[in-house]
Amino acid sequence: MEASNQTVEPDNELYHALQRAWNQHKDNGDGVVADYIPELSRADPDHFGVAIATANGKLYAVGDVEVPFTIQSVSKAFAFCLALEIAGPQRVSGRVGVEPSGDPFNAIVFDPDTNRPFNPMVNAGAIAISGLLCEYLGNDAFDFLLNRFSIAAGRRLTVDEKVYASEFETGHRNRAIAHLLLANGALAGSPDKALDLYFKQCSISVTAVDLARMGATFANMGQNPLEKSIAFELTSVRRTLSVMFTCGMYDYAGHWAYDVGIPAKSGVGGGIVGVINRQLGIGTYSPRLDRKGNSVRGIATFEMLAEEFGLHAFDCTNVGSTFISSLIR
Ligand code: GLU
Repeated sequence: MEASNQTVEPDNELYHALQRAWNQHKDNGDGVVADYIPELSRADPDHFGVAIATANGKLYAVGDVEVPFTIQSVSKAFAFCLALEIAGPQRVSGRVGVEPSGDPFNAIVFDPDTNRPFNPMVNAGAIAISGLLCEYLGNDAFDFLLNRFSIAAGRRLTVDEKVYASEFETGHRNRAIAHLLLANGALAGSPDKALDLYFKQCSISVTAVDLARMGATFANMGQNPLEKSIAFELTSVRRTLSVMFTCGMYDYAGHWAYDVGIPAKSGVGGGIVGVINRQLGIGTYSPRLDRKGNSVRGIATFEMLAEEFGLHAFDCTNVGSTFISSLIR
């Protein structure tokens, strides 16, 4: 797949809003770069990029939007969507719930009623989903996932091998989780294979523009708006966006739904993807994280955009595709 020849559109209200958000937050030095996966600590803390891709194929981008970083937990949303398609919602719900846990992403905690992970956006749930994908797709699981992620982004994505090696070497907590999943019946196959897929998917290298485009593919009902190829199945997208809305921002998800109101997923690499259904994908990158693991400047940018354009799902000015369409015509 060739890189999309999508052009950045500079002269537009959305572009100016991105510029304002970037200018306002660029000097915010709060937060720290994740270092529990040693290779992540090499990120430049000052990098800051913000991008919006629309469901009709336009792109607005400001700052360090072509700097690569690893997708980390943002991958959990897209992998969940693929598992729904491949295994079906019933099998998926036999392995992982859809309840917010209120616990940190790497908590070793299971729903006491089912012994299953609370949701697919925490590590335990995501590893269960990787296990399910391995069961259905065998050794092709990673290529399948990478191909679909690439279709969504509109370019061929690759793995950051150094981050992958670093995760593999230091992921002892995730190994413990995988073995507990096996003991609890939330994993049926090899924990090592599930973990390998999980570590690899987290190590996929993306940019803020990629995240915006992947978000726009979700916003466009699973079809890449430019290339028109289908990355995700329609009904799985709806289910995924629902879980992103309630569980996507670690143990800040409740505040996020309340204040920002956008289905989103963040990762410890510093990325956040947000989706305005039928309208926009928003991607931000800034590696300094707050105590809950969310990008400080990413959150601030989303708050500003949501406020300015009424993007909150329940904002009375957000009347679906017609609202933003009027801005991007
Ligand atoms: N690969 C990371 C881990 O499992 C992902 C964490 C995250 O982004 O929340 O620890």
